[in-house]
Amino acid sequence: MKFSELRKCPFCGNDEFYTNDRFKGSSAYNQRFDGKEAYDNSQMYDGLDHIQGAKAYCNNCFKYLGNVITNKIGKNAEKALAHPTEKGGVDNAR
Ligand SMILES: [Zn+2]
Repeated sequence: MKFSELRKCPFCGNDEFYTNDRFKGSSAYNQRFDGKEAYDNSQMYDGLDHIQGAKAYCNNCFKYLGNVITNKIGKNAEKALAHPTEKGGVDNAR
C-alpha cells in the first residue's frame, strides 16, 4: 500500500497529517509599536522557498505514518492497517 492511498490515520482514524516543512529566505514581518497584533501579515511567507518535509505524522496521535516523497507507508502504520481497530483501518467503502 502506498502512503497516498491512506484515507485516515491507521492508529486513531484522524483525517489529517502534518510534515515538518522548512522555509528558506527572508520576509517583511509587520509589528505594531504598542505590541498588539499587526493588521495584516498574510504576505509573510510570500517569496520564501518551501521545502516539503518527507515524513508524515498524524496531527492527533503524532505517530509516524509514512514518507510523502517516496510514497511509502511506515512499518507500524502498515501493521496497524493489517489489524484494524474500530477507529482506524482502511476505508474500503469509497
Ligand atoms: Zn492518529
